[in-house]
Amino acid sequence: MSYFVDKDGYYGKFGGAFIPELLYPNVKELEGNYLKILASESFKKEFKDLLDNYVGRPTPLYLAKRLSEKYGATIYLKREDLCHTGAHKVNNTIGQILVAKHLGKKRIIAETGAGQHGVATATVCALMDLECIVFMGEVDIKRQAPNVARMKMLGAKVVPATSGSKTLKDATNEAIRDWIGNPEDTYYLIGSVVGPHPYPDMVARLQSIISKEIKEQLLVQTGNENPDMIIACVGGGSNAAGAFYHYLDEESVDLIAVEAAGLGVYSGKSAATSQLGEVGVLHGSKTILMQDEYGQVIEPYSISAGLDYPGIGPLHAYLHESDRAKFMNATDQEALDAAYELTKIEGIIPALESAHALAVLPKMKFEKNQVVVINLSGRGDKDLETYITNLKDE
Ligand SMILES: *Cc1c(COP(=O)(O)O)cnc(C)c1O
Repeated sequence: MSYFVDKDGYYGKFGGAFIPELLYPNVKELEGNYLKILASESFKKEFKDLLDNYVGRPTPLYLAKRLSEKYGATIYLKREDLCHTGAHKVNNTIGQILVAKHLGKKRIIAETGAGQHGVATATVCALMDLECIVFMGEVDIKRQAPNVARMKMLGAKVVPATSGSKTLKDATNEAIRDWIGNPEDTYYLIGSVVGPHPYPDMVARLQSIISKEIKEQLLVQTGNENPDMIIACVGGGSNAAGAFYHYLDEESVDLIAVEAAGLGVYSGKSAATSQLGEVGVLHGSKTILMQDEYGQVIEPYSISAGLDYPGIGPLHAYLHESDRAKFMNATDQEALDAAYELTKIEGIIPALESAHALAVLPKMKFEKNQVVVINLSGRGDKDLETYITNLKDE
């Protein structure tokens, strides 16, 4: 049994490339080249140099003493919040911009919901002096003004998607339409372990630097490169894929994926895909998604913009189905409480997404000395307004 993608682009029955025929040449070009590029000396050298000196890697693995005391385990935080731009997303955009350059592409397109992937893409396009077009739902452009301003400042063109619900899936449709129209010079930069093969595998490989570092750092700090458990939040699943990657075959390491339950899993306002979803095709791959009886995507909800996604990547669908990973969830309120707690006892303000991973700690029973790694995917600066609004006087 393997948890890695097979030669046809599948994880068990999940994955593949369900795309319009007109997109075949673009996807085939990428599929035929990505492994060669990732394995080339020039890519590896440039990727490492940028991760070290631009992103600020390796990020620390921090033993959170007070959090450990409180929950009766040995808890480490993998500090992706300290990456340049404030989250793990930049590991992926740096890698893919290098792939685009190797393919000779001059024009980068992306879609974004909350704007975080758009900002990470605009950042690396500024760095590499490449044209950047970000498709974003008209509704999201209004909701996410600061990220729109950042993208424009970074030199990106933000194009509103005005069809349908005017949110992420409509922006995705616009991006795909653009790619079909510009197959020669354009590279489509996807932001999570989603999309048609080879994107989920490529993004997982680029984010796998997270678990590579965890192994090295745990070995130095504890004498054992394996923890007992790794916990990560899941929107599309890229930070979790990166944190799990080098442990997928280490069955002694428990993998915990945490989804956003919004106002409650069954409240009708949730993004707990693995609980509510069914098998279907989303964004070009066969996976688990939230859909109605006609196969129409149900709009997800979460207080955290990054977890507000109606599906999970095909790797995660397979980890869920095979029980390799345990899927849990946290509500808005549980995430808020966890964020305030971490801030107070460790002096770290986490992103709301990452707070969902922290929020399962009170639901666990640990044995003493159990080593737990929580992937702190991002920092909370972007969520300050939500934190201020919800802060109760104590
Ligand atoms: C985007 C984002 C996520 C969710 O995306 P994944 O692909 O599931 O990792 C989680 N945390 C932060 C801080 C994010 O910005």
